[in-house]
Amino acid sequence: MSLAEQPVTLLKGVGARNAQKLARISIESVQDLLFHLPLRYQDRTRVQPIGAVRRGDQVVIEGEVDVAEIKYGRRRSLLVRLSDGTGGIILRFFYFSNAQRQALARGVRLRCFGEVRNGPNSLEMVHPEYQRVDPDEPLQTEEALTPIYPTTEGVHQLTLRGLMPQALALLEQGPSGLQELLPDTLLQRFQLGSLVRALVFLHRPPPDADQQQLLAGTHPAQQRLAFEELLAHQISLRKLRSQHQRTHATALSLESQLKQRLLSDIPFSLTSAQARVIDEIGQDLTRSYPMQRLVQGDVGAGKTIVSALAAIQAIAAGAQVALMAPTELLAEQHLSSFSQWLEPLGINIAWLTGRMKGRARSLALEVIASGEVQLIVGTHALFQDDVVFNDLGLVIIDEQHRFGVHQRLALREKGRRQGHAPHQLIMTATPIPRTLAMTAYADLDLSVIDSLPPGRKPVTTAVISDQRRDEVVERVRAACAEGRQAYWVCTLIEESEALQCQAAEESARMLSEALPELRVGLVHGRIKAEQKEQVMGAFKAGSLDLLIATTVIEVGVDVPNASLMIIENAERLGLAQLHQLRGRVGRGSAESHCVLMYHAPLSLNAKSRLAILRESGDGFYIAQKDLEMRGPGEVLGTRQTGDMQLRIADLVRDQKLLDDVRQVAEMILRDHPVQAEQLINRWLGQRADYGRA
Ligand code: ADP
Ligand code: MG
Repeated sequence: MSLAEQPVTLLKGVGARNAQKLARISIESVQDLLFHLPLRYQDRTRVQPIGAVRRGDQVVIEGEVDVAEIKYGRRRSLLVRLSDGTGGIILRFFYFSNAQRQALARGVRLRCFGEVRNGPNSLEMVHPEYQRVDPDEPLQTEEALTPIYPTTEGVHQLTLRGLMPQALALLEQGPSGLQELLPDTLLQRFQLGSLVRALVFLHRPPPDADQQQLLAGTHPAQQRLAFEELLAHQISLRKLRSQHQRTHATALSLESQLKQRLLSDIPFSLTSAQARVIDEIGQDLTRSYPMQRLVQGDVGAGKTIVSALAAIQAIAAGAQVALMAPTELLAEQHLSSFSQWLEPLGINIAWLTGRMKGRARSLALEVIASGEVQLIVGTHALFQDDVVFNDLGLVIIDEQHRFGVHQRLALREKGRRQGHAPHQLIMTATPIPRTLAMTAYADLDLSVIDSLPPGRKPVTTAVISDQRRDEVVERVRAACAEGRQAYWVCTLIEESEALQCQAAEESARMLSEALPELRVGLVHGRIKAEQKEQVMGAFKAGSLDLLIATTVIEVGVDVPNASLMIIENAERLGLAQLHQLRGRVGRGSAESHCVLMYHAPLSLNAKSRLAILRESGDGFYIAQKDLEMRGPGEVLGTRQTGDMQLRIADLVRDQKLLDDVRQVAEMILRDHPVQAEQLINRWLGQRADYGRA
């Protein structure tokens, strides 16, 4: 029986209670236990000469007590001086019993384990683990480094350390317990060791193992496991993708007449990046399986017109198109662009949001179902149950990072009938670094609009302490006096939304007082949608000078006259988000500025993060840096990585494995389909579906 099928309850010491606790950290089988790897190690394999230990070392030492005494300083403590002929060290105890004190008498021999630190007069160990040594019966040392496991949910270190040898014994019993799924030829070609050897090594590393490598996660044994995990994910996504390609979609043939008419109507010509992406989409739509394309383009790169041309191709071929935006405001903005662009071409457009009720709503549903309208613009209300499309051929999702995977899935399911699905075009302004795109998004085709339309002026960015808030307020006054508009963004000060809104209200009061001549508006999450839109509308129309907001304005407001963006507590936001916010200015002809205000003291890390933003306006560069500094969960947002849980691999640390992983995935899928399935099972189990969204 394989170790994946053997429950942990087979091990000595695992009763119902422990089993339950283990299950909470997803350890149910013996194999799960073996994949629970140590975070770090202690070296108890040798006794160090006291004269050789240094501050920060975690070591075993052995020596004789010279003297033990109680000191009454700021805190009463028991100090024991231990020496071994090479040097001496102080053992310090703040908590001790009388019996303990008496046992630590001069001449007693002790073996201790602990961390060495600087004391007032010499090196010390505070509360070391210790044991008395009988000179006639010397103690053994450990044969392997001692693993320290991640412990949560009441599962104790010693429990795990007690169970592991049993699991390892089962593992070493024979090849049937944990099958090697990577064929020999691949192991050799990519210089990978065996899985079993890697696991044994990591739970029981020999004394000379490279601890620094282990701590960094770059030891070949760890990399062997990371490789297999990434491989399993890659294989699973590729399988989903090929399944997907067997789904049928209506082929929407290329069209040029209407496209040409639109292109001659708009006041600009496409950038070559836009033209390339439009070609890629155009080709996809002509296929008889559904397009799944993610278009990435920095804020202002001009994604909307690209999606309009895709919509035209679908509509000209007789299909309906649904365009979904994450907020009503953004949907409305799209409605206005698309109406201006497409209505002159004879295309009918409907509008559907969650707030539409009664007759307006039933009318909209009617024209959608009858096919009278070819384009439907709206929010996620588009995929509510009572919305029936006549012939949905293309779904366009804007600013997809704002939608959960499930919403994306729901809209796709919506158009799916009898093995038939609509094409899908997904647009995002959050640049996804290549490594992430290759893993988390391996089920999608990628297009990148990698240049901005000509003539955009970079936004000058300053990083300023909030102690200089008065100066910043003066900048707002000056900009507005010139007829420009400004944003003042209050970021997350506390985790709680309520407190965040409170902070925005506070800032609004302060700013209205300091700038009585300005017309000030306020939007935050607790303000009713209707009122929010009214304020945003007023700002857009130029009847407000200053807009104070929480990060709700991140997506999609387009006010070219706004030239100044102030962001409070900028150090608390991710770089990608700051970049998005900054993208709200620099849309018009005026010189634009962004002030990143921070609250001192600024950590070194925060300082260098803000410096990246000051020095670069390139969203992809910024996202790559963000990924390196904060990890993929933060960059993609938990909503999207929630399913992409890696147990061992780390997308940033293990980037360099990815090229090999892709090659191997291809070979295994081609030549070893059974192992491909087993790899998915081993590493993803029930979760193998997530890429379907
Ligand atoms: P985003 O990629 O952020 O969605 P938009 O599609 O909203 O960007 O475009 C931003 C602005 O740039 C719009 O006003 C749009 O009309 C304009 N625009 C788009 N493409 C071009 C181009 N090739 N040349 C000049 N302006 C363009
Ligand atoms: Mg956009």
